[in-house]
Amino acid sequence: MIDQQRYLSEKVINLKPSGIRRFFDLASGMEGVISLGVGEPDFVTSWAIREASILSLEQGYTAYTANAGLIELRREISNYMNNRFGVQYSPDNEIIVTVGASQALDLAIRAIVNPGDEVIIVEPCFVAYESIVSLSGGVPVPVQTTVENQFKLQPEQIEAVITPRTKALLICSPNNPTGTLLVKEELEKIAHIVKKHDLVVLSDEIYSELSYEDGYASFASIDGMRERTIVINGFSKGFAMTGWRLGFAVGPSMFIQAMLKIHQHTMMCAPTMAQHGAIEALRNGMEDVAIMKKSYHQRRNYFVKSLNEIGLDCHMPGGAFYAFPSIKRTGLTSEEFAERLLLEEKVAVVPGDVFGKSGAGHIRCSYATSMDQLKEAIKRMKRFVEKLSVTV
Ligand code: PMP
Repeated sequence: MIDQQRYLSEKVINLKPSGIRRFFDLASGMEGVISLGVGEPDFVTSWAIREASILSLEQGYTAYTANAGLIELRREISNYMNNRFGVQYSPDNEIIVTVGASQALDLAIRAIVNPGDEVIIVEPCFVAYESIVSLSGGVPVPVQTTVENQFKLQPEQIEAVITPRTKALLICSPNNPTGTLLVKEELEKIAHIVKKHDLVVLSDEIYSELSYEDGYASFASIDGMRERTIVINGFSKGFAMTGWRLGFAVGPSMFIQAMLKIHQHTMMCAPTMAQHGAIEALRNGMEDVAIMKKSYHQRRNYFVKSLNEIGLDCHMPGGAFYAFPSIKRTGLTSEEFAERLLLEEKVAVVPGDVFGKSGAGHIRCSYATSMDQLKEAIKRMKRFVEKLSVTV
């Protein structure tokens, strides 16, 4: 019965397992580990949001919602996009509520990709991008951003990989794993190339609420881009709602209605009780978002400064909650560094190359953990780096 070729789909057999999982599995069998490995907020969802969701259950709202999501929630998303980013979307046909940003990404790719169509992905990036494109029958075409440019996509890099099959560009700012934020002027330069080559843009803006520098802009707000951009966003990061599995996509109705066609046959709708919580999040939750953001900001400043002090060079990330220091001077590969740091000092980080080729020689550290834990992690990492410099 273990004949994979016979029983499983080729696409699944060829899918690379997530490189992050292996480290979780290693760490989960150990005691006293400080985890800088997971990409999720360390806050519990604010009480008002939980209460709104509980209330919806008490009131008996337990049935499916409209496929596109509750109209009240779509109205709130419409207001949010307008108030926060200055882009208008109609709640009637330009917004879809999804099961996390993950499902929105999957729907968006499946809605636009024909077999063999190329989608440019900007590495290092979220590990799921490549798989989502491959599963849809598309061809992921990676572009490597580099530490010399603070991992900022250079417009000429896009032009260098354009072919007649190029369909779309998938970007993410602020970025996972580098934390890199592209400011408005940088997006404008990318937009110029996008227009010239008539590309669709999938803009993953899941970290939009966590930007610490001026100049953040939604890609859809850049001149001429709204008509060709699907914005992916959600509640996981900014509102600390990872477990609620709620996200959304906004864009021109042609794209959103195509996504809705797939959604109604696959997921039907996002969880109803989570949608009720999300309405509250958008109506009254922005103060809590600001408090969490301030806390990440303080931790970023401490953590990145400390990494540099212990000899792990790290650019100052403009957003998200990741630091992406170089470990090149230790002479170890990212994988060796992460594995030995875990086994010898019990600090879990993720090797940078799981996010793409140019992540090699780096590690991803999530600083969404308490200041005490961060201080202890730095102490252990310092000891580890010092030990290496003696033995290397
Ligand atoms: N995009 C990026 C860049 C992410 O880092 C993540 C989560 N790690 C997601 C999308 C998926 O988020 P969600 O929980 O909303 O599915």
